[in-house]
Amino acid sequence: MEREENFISGIHNYCDRWCERCPFTARCRVAEAEQETTDEERDITNEAFWHRLAANFAAAQIMLLEKAEEFGVDLNAISEEEYASHRDREDEIVKNDALTRFAEKYRQDAQKTLEAKNEWLIFSALDETAQEEMLSIIYWYQFFISAKIQRGLSGILDFDGNLDEEQLNDAQSDANGSIKIALIAVTRSLMAWTALMTNENSQTISPFISLLEIIKQTAAKKFPNAKNFIRPGFDEIEFVM
Ligand code: SF4
Repeated sequence: MEREENFISGIHNYCDRWCERCPFTARCRVAEAEQETTDEERDITNEAFWHRLAANFAAAQIMLLEKAEEFGVDLNAISEEEYASHRDREDEIVKNDALTRFAEKYRQDAQKTLEAKNEWLIFSALDETAQEEMLSIIYWYQFFISAKIQRGLSGILDFDGNLDEEQLNDAQSDANGSIKIALIAVTRSLMAWTALMTNENSQTISPFISLLEIIKQTAAKKFPNAKNFIRPGFDEIEFVM
């Protein structure tokens, strides 16, 4: 029981999944599950990986059925066709949102520039260790930003694809939590690109700084309450440095 109480509920939903650098591994169920996973279970080409995945799905399905029964939710209230059409509609709206388009442009352009990093990294004023650190930040958040922004955008849509104002206005909604961690990732990426920039490589790097700034401002405007979201653990516990 004491061990159970040590875990922070939901902490893994609004973190950046960078467990190697996380101060909460001892209080996170995901980190614990990860530690118990064997190398074979992490290897997608190994049968053990698929067994573990199937077991996780089965456990999630059981939990869903139990919760539905507990709260009186009818899981058959909508047909599979209705659900599929809802998903298609939602995907289309999210895909066409300006914020998604900016975030996807960032992901794709950053990919090309990172592949050609030997051409511009040589002009950085940082030493090799600091360069590696900045690059690792950019790599880590490159895909993460778009994924979290899309989750936030779908979270403020109701079943018919209209704006769900309740979710938008509730600072503790999943949508606002997703945007808050996306904004944190944007800020860290901005810092990393800026640290690598010099006069000689600014033509290559400055478009990323502009694009990330646009993402930051657009997201903050569209989700004015995201900054107030309190992330379990991270925004609740003050660290003594
Ligand atoms: S809360 Fe920390 S340990 Fe848990 S999944 Fe997120 S980064 Fe990893």
